[in-house]
Amino acid sequence: MSIFTKIITGEIPSYKVAEDDNFIAFLDINPNAKGHTLVVPKKEEDKIFDLSKEEYSSLMDFSYRVAKAIEKTIVCKRVGMSVIGLEVPHVHVHLIPLNSMADIQFSQKVKLSNDEFIALAKSISKNFE
Ligand code: 5GP
Repeated sequence: MSIFTKIITGEIPSYKVAEDDNFIAFLDINPNAKGHTLVVPKKEEDKIFDLSKEEYSSLMDFSYRVAKAIEKTIVCKRVGMSVIGLEVPHVHVHLIPLNSMADIQFSQKVKLSNDEFIALAKSISKNFE
């Protein structure tokens, strides 16, 4: 069982931003930038291109809605999207508020307190439509 499945089942906590029957979005615990969010299909699949075309399209639709909510919440030049998966073998889309190239490079990290994570997740979730 992946760490993200444990988040989906509630076995381990997360700062949840959005959820429906098939997807969940929560804040990345080690963010590149404030508002860095992961969008995850509840079905545990390792690689994104092993999803069916329908599952892939639904994941992109859900990610679009989450990205819109991030844009409304966080002041940034744009929201970037990245799919890697080398650390956690459960499909996830990184949505990252960008102000510079460094924000998408996974080398520079920001530290947030528990209270900051809670407030941020709440603000983004309020803007999720
Ligand atoms: P990737 O698999 O795309 O290379 O990276 C996995 C991402 O998941 C990383 O950005 C890492 O910070 C994040 N991550 C790993 N474990 C957890 C966790 O338990 N909770 C949350 N919210 N994020 C995690």
